[in-house]
Amino acid sequence: MTLEQLPPLRDALAEHGLLARKAFGQHFLLDLNITRKIARLAQVGPGDQVIEVGPGPGGLTRALLETGAQVVAIEKDQRFRPLLEALAAAASPGALNLQFADALIADEAALGGGAAHVVSNLPYNVGTALLIKWLTGRWTPSSMTLMFQKEVAQRITAPVDGEAYGRLAVIAQVTSDVRTVMDVPARAFTPPPKVESAVVRVTPRPDRPSPARLDALQKLTAAAFGQRRKMLRASLKALGGEPLIDAAGLDPKARAETVDVGGFLRLADAWITERRR
Ligand code: SAM
Repeated sequence: MTLEQLPPLRDALAEHGLLARKAFGQHFLLDLNITRKIARLAQVGPGDQVIEVGPGPGGLTRALLETGAQVVAIEKDQRFRPLLEALAAAASPGALNLQFADALIADEAALGGGAAHVVSNLPYNVGTALLIKWLTGRWTPSSMTLMFQKEVAQRITAPVDGEAYGRLAVIAQVTSDVRTVMDVPARAFTPPPKVESAVVRVTPRPDRPSPARLDALQKLTAAAFGQRRKMLRASLKALGGEPLIDAAGLDPKARAETVDVGGFLRLADAWITERRR
């Protein structure tokens, strides 16, 4: 059997009696027109290595394989093994590597080799944790094309001084170029979630801050946005207070949401310098 000859996903799910599990954040994309569009937005093709988290019944996986990319698919729910093995058998030999594991603790460098693109309709309950792992961890993808709840997509791409601007925006934008590339209505999923979704394209920049600067940024943004209505001099008191804020050239009376990404980087550098003294 070839990829084109595989049965429709809805039939394959019914044949195996598979229903979505809420605890695993399961909302499936069964319309191949949508999964093919996501694969196109991911800009992957022959010779590219892709890591897909949560293939589930394999709709997006199938679209990714159709591009000619090599896919490593990491799925936590063993129930999908028969469907995914059928997909692997229909694909070119070796094109789909199945890993039944928890993506939160997976070693992507060992699985995908050095340069790989991540493409995923993420489980909503662990989506931001995975994004932070890929942005700040030891291994960073060449690009990420990720489905999030729309509200999370807005928090990733938010401009300074907006409602949605916070820790996630700072960490994402300090490391990467971020862009919402597709809105996806709830009705596109089976079962439909309560909220709308969006695909975000995240392209890590080669000049990403060092691990030490990222670590400092994590601490400072946690403190500053943990009390976002307070002035910096209050929210950052335990991390250095006014001398630190002055060293970063910021106004101690400013609130976190008015400090742009460059301002947070200066705070991180001032904090690192202060700790070296
Ligand atoms: N890619 C499929 C699709 O688009 O139809 C399924 C997407 S569904 C939103 C999320 C998938 O991630 C589910 O298959 C779920 O079992 C899997 N998943 C949830 N938590 C996971 C984890 N920690 N590691 C790996 N897979 C996980």
